[in-house]
Amino acid sequence: MSKPSKKDVLSLLNAKCDDIIHLMAAANSKRCGKTITYSKNVFLPLTNICRNECGYCTFKKDVNDPNATILMEPHDVMKNITLADKYGCREALFTFGEHADEDSSVKAAIERLGFGNMLEYLHFLCSETLNQTDLLPHSNPGILKKSELKFLKEVNASMGLMLETTSSRLMKTIAHEKSPGKKPELRIKTIENAGKLKIPFTTGLLIGIGETVEERAESLLEIRKLQNRYGHIQEIIIQNFKPKPGIPMENYREPSLVEMIKMMAVTKLLFPDVGVQVPPNLNRYTTSIFLMAGADDLGGVSPITQDYVNPDAPWPDLDELKGITEELGFELAERLPVYPKFLSEDLSEEFLSEKIREKIDL
Ligand code: SF4
Repeated sequence: MSKPSKKDVLSLLNAKCDDIIHLMAAANSKRCGKTITYSKNVFLPLTNICRNECGYCTFKKDVNDPNATILMEPHDVMKNITLADKYGCREALFTFGEHADEDSSVKAAIERLGFGNMLEYLHFLCSETLNQTDLLPHSNPGILKKSELKFLKEVNASMGLMLETTSSRLMKTIAHEKSPGKKPELRIKTIENAGKLKIPFTTGLLIGIGETVEERAESLLEIRKLQNRYGHIQEIIIQNFKPKPGIPMENYREPSLVEMIKMMAVTKLLFPDVGVQVPPNLNRYTTSIFLMAGADDLGGVSPITQDYVNPDAPWPDLDELKGITEELGFELAERLPVYPKFLSEDLSEEFLSEKIREKIDL
């Protein structure tokens, strides 16, 4: 699809029966070879305090909750990273609630360590990771200003922010009514600024949070527009909403298997130049069908930490993923948190800082 219109994308997302089989075959023809990739990582949730309150969230905790992590101390972070190094992991995935340092307890904990804000602390931890281990940082700090992205580019191999959806309508629904950071224009701006700064970038869509099929088409086209302009998107995660007891959306239904197959296939058709990721821990019994629909990446797989964002969904181990991929005739291959195209002579100078290039030995 050279210049897909909204009508084209919508018609594919509304495909029925035999047309879905054709759609899957067309998406499969767009993949590069027979390789399905994953990244061996360690998950570092620096705090689970967040200024937003998304209706589907299972990560955020109230500051008074005895299970809240106000701030992971440097010693604990580095202990996990050093252990991950011993296990041969190459990605240090830093994540935390958005603008967590707006909370006075988080701010006090950061200041006690001698940092002015969360991003200074994150920069320090990323630098330590690069200085002490073979891991490469990949940070997901929420919406950021251009200057903040530039600051973090120095010590990150790649960065990420889920677009989730371009639907402003959801800002008035249970999904996002208490989440100022989920305004689509703010998220688009962050992804666009990452493009201007040439930061290899991961984004994605959250499917089943109340968006219409038309809004899914608009979201995909928005990412396509950004990728056409800046070429910095390395992967798109297609994540399915999962209802869980205790969350505000616990009684909402998750997207159907057919909806997810179509999303996966249409994403690959629109983005032959980008990895399409299915999170295997959220799709334990359906990952195979998504690989047949064009998905070609399984994201981060950790031998030592759980998925703190989806604690009820343990990661399958590597043998299980190998079994799933080889059964379909694919090969499972490890990748770095930055995709191979950005390691080329042409692109690495622009897209990777000197510190990261030195670490990868480019
Ligand atoms: S932004 Fe993320 S951590 Fe914060 S409430 Fe929403 S889903 Fe939870």
